[in-house]
Formats: sequence, C-alpha cells, structure tokens
Amino acid sequence: MVGDRAIAPAELLGPPYAPASPAPFVSSETLLRVQNLKVEFHTDEGVVRAVDDVSFDVRPGETLGIVGESGSGKSVTSMAILGLLPRYAHVSGEVYYRERELITMKPKELRNIRGKNIAMIFQDALASLNPVFRVGDQIAEAIKVHNPDIGRRELHDRVCELLDLVGIPNPSERAQQYPHEFSGGMRQRVMIAMSISNEPDVLIADEPTTALDVTIQAQVMEVIERIQDRTNSAIVLITHDLGVVAGVADRVMVMYAGRQAELGSIDQIFYEPKHPYTRGLLASLPRLDRRTRDDRLHRIKGQPPSLIYVPTGCPFHPRCPYAEVPGVCDSTRPPFLQIETTQWSACHFATELDEREPAET
Ligand code: SF4
Repeated sequence: MVGDRAIAPAELLGPPYAPASPAPFVSSETLLRVQNLKVEFHTDEGVVRAVDDVSFDVRPGETLGIVGESGSGKSVTSMAILGLLPRYAHVSGEVYYRERELITMKPKELRNIRGKNIAMIFQDALASLNPVFRVGDQIAEAIKVHNPDIGRRELHDRVCELLDLVGIPNPSERAQQYPHEFSGGMRQRVMIAMSISNEPDVLIADEPTTALDVTIQAQVMEVIERIQDRTNSAIVLITHDLGVVAGVADRVMVMYAGRQAELGSIDQIFYEPKHPYTRGLLASLPRLDRRTRDDRLHRIKGQPPSLIYVPTGCPFHPRCPYAEVPGVCDSTRPPFLQIETTQWSACHFATELDEREPAET
C-alpha cells in the first residue's frame, strides 16, 4: 500500500525478474562495489523498475563512465548508492564501500560516509548552491560537517586552497561572493570544490558538464582529472554523452531501460562494441570525417520504453536492427555475460554481431 492506494503485485505489471547474472567485477581491490542493485517505485500505474539488477565495481584511480539515454537508470543508481532516494523507493541488493555495506547501514553512519568518503557532484550547480549564502561559507559548511573542531583560520585557508585547486582566480575575494556572481562553469567548479573538500575516495559526478559549452566542459573535466591525479580517488562519471567519457574514462558501462547493456574498457566499447545499443549510440555521434550530404547522422529508431511496461525478452528488441523477432529476443531476457576478460554484454548474439545482417533502420 502507498497511503490508501492498493498496489498491484509487481509480477502482474511487467516481465518477471531474470535470475541474477554473475557480477561483472574486475578486481578484488575495489573502493566501491555494487551488486545486484534494484530500485523500484510503486505507483498507481504499476511498478517502475528504475534500476534492475545492476552490478559493477570501481578501483582506486579508475574512472568508470556510466552512459545511457534519459531514464536509463544512471542517476537513480548513483542516488541509491548514496542513500539519497526518497523513502518510498524500494532499494535492494548490496553496495560496498571498502568492506562496509551501505544499503542496510544506519542513516547516521551513512551520513558520516556521505560527503567524506563518497561525494557527489550534482548536475545543476545553480540549483544545488544556496543563492543566499556566500560561496565560501557553503564550502566551509561542507568541511565543518565532518571536521567540527576545525579553527576559523584553518577553515578559511582550506576554502581558498580548494577554490584555487579548481582553478578559480583570487580565491579569497571570490569566496565572499554569491552564486549568481559566478558564471555557469565557475559555479560547477565551486560544486567540485565542495565535493572534494573532505578528499573523498569515491567521487560520483552526475552529468557534471551538462548545460556548459564545450570549452568549459573540457576545462571542468580537466579539473576533475587533476583532482583524481592528486588524490587517486575512484570516479564514477554519469553522462548521456559518449564523447565526454571518451577522453577521460578507463571503463564504460552502457545502461538501457534500467539494466546494464554492456560494460568494457574504453577501447572495447569504442572499437569492439558487443551490444547493438552501444553500436547505435556510437553511430549517432557526429563525425568530422562525414563529408557528404548523404552521409547522415544515424539515429536509433523508436523511443526508450516505459519502465513500467518494459518489453518482454530483451528490452531493446523493438528498436534493435539485429533482433530475432519472433524468437529468442522477444521471449528471453539476455543474461549479462562475460565476453572477454573485461567485457560483458546483455545480448543473445553478442559474439556474432559482425556476422549478422542488421535490418534497415
Ligand atoms: Fe538486439 Fe536481440 Fe541482442 Fe537484444 S538480444 S540487443 S534484441 S540482438
């Protein structure tokens, strides 16, 4: 029940869950390990399966890019890791920061980890900063929460050091200004300064460059990389833009309809993709070597599915040029299976895609 509304059983409202796939872990030395994570929202219309059996890990000094269209479950995954979802969200699975499990952790304990050991850069800097407080005070607050005994002088120096680190000139004066006195790129730098204020081991960056022009995007990504070089932190970079991950990620996880479609090293994803959705995303990127008018941008036909009425079998089958329909693709959910040492794909034909003839789109 939600309030006085009866919720229909989940099994009547969408395809049943497949058995959990073997988790795609690459190392025992992980800082963050997510295992069979599921997030559901029970609504009047049915159960929204926003994240469905997602597993991955991130090592120190590594950048994992999570890519997918809007509504693919990227941001909900990051919010679930940090315990930031509303209470009506049904979260299951396991999330380990080092040896500590976060999903079942008491809220007070989780608050000690959040912002200190695992921090997040949110996508909308203007909405995330409080307009009525000075930028320096907001960064100082983030430091004081985890260091209540820090002295005034030390706090001021630390704020200036952080602003300087993210490339904001005249940090002492800028700390006295309000968010509206900063440009979009500078506000995003302030957000980065806040998120790294306690030198977290894991930094989750949720669309950190959305709404910024490409020059500022590059500068913000450079700041994040510089910080990683200094702290050896693990970065989870969430974006809808494959171009952003191309320059900075070590590995990439592609999500579709709340599930993992593919996971692999940056070279595997860009040069040997083993999932038709990844191929579609890559083909839809603008390329400088396309010169003729006929050489049009590729598009993936159709729309992402509703997360209440996820298609049976493979959720991508209504849009997939390689689908065997009717057949295995609309009847059986593909497991997320290991193809190479560091590459996984949820496609029945992952190893035969090159031999298959795609349908016209
Ligand atoms: Fe396409 Fe079938 Fe592979 Fe799904 S399982 S991606 S529908 S070929």
